[in-house]
Amino acid sequence: MRLVLLGAPGAGKGTQAKKLIDKYGIPQISTGDILRKAVADGTPLGKEAKSYMDSGGLVPDSVVIGLVKERIAQPDCTKGYILDGFPRTTPQAEALDKVLADMKAPLDTALSVDVDMDILMKRLTGRRTCKGCQQMYNIYFGAPKKEGACDKCGGELFQRADDKEETIKNRLAVYEKSTAPLMDYYGKKNILKSVQGMGSVDEIFNKVCKILES
Ligand code: AMP
Repeated sequence: MRLVLLGAPGAGKGTQAKKLIDKYGIPQISTGDILRKAVADGTPLGKEAKSYMDSGGLVPDSVVIGLVKERIAQPDCTKGYILDGFPRTTPQAEALDKVLADMKAPLDTALSVDVDMDILMKRLTGRRTCKGCQQMYNIYFGAPKKEGACDKCGGELFQRADDKEETIKNRLAVYEKSTAPLMDYYGKKNILKSVQGMGSVDEIFNKVCKILES
């Protein structure tokens, strides 16, 4: 299964992708995760990407396209993969199509996870991550028992630099302008499906699986 997850930041693509990995045994390719690791490791790629990410803008197409090309050529992707956060612009989608046409392995589905704007804002501004074990919380929807501390390891919780309010507004504006047009792009190719991304994680996951298996 070669799947693209579409949806605004905070729509829950990453959460659903993690459950799809377990169910279908295919890897998740999250360009956001790859870029955050490069920033944390201080690699040349990370140094280039950091300023774009901190402001909520997009890292240049040439950088992310190269990353994804390399990643989908890895042996663990032969059975398929879940692209999460890529493509985010029409040139990225076109470049992906070209690579996949050369590999004779086109996408099966682009699944759009749809969430109302007020919920997106709470999901994003409320997100906190443990410095110790990376466990994620949300102060509105899944707060830790003790404020500011991880339930699992007691570590300190922090807010991702790109989850601050100003940055989030920019990320959502960038999404509307650059990424939302991909709905049309995949619609015209007849591979677009959509799911309401509201409710419990498991409820959404059940709907996702039904859609993917239909
Ligand atoms: P995410 O975790 O997917 O929301 O990504 C976090 C940040 O990484 C984004 O706000 C962008 O700055 C950058 N990023 C991730 N994926 C892409 C992409 N496909 N194209 C450009 N920038 C990206």
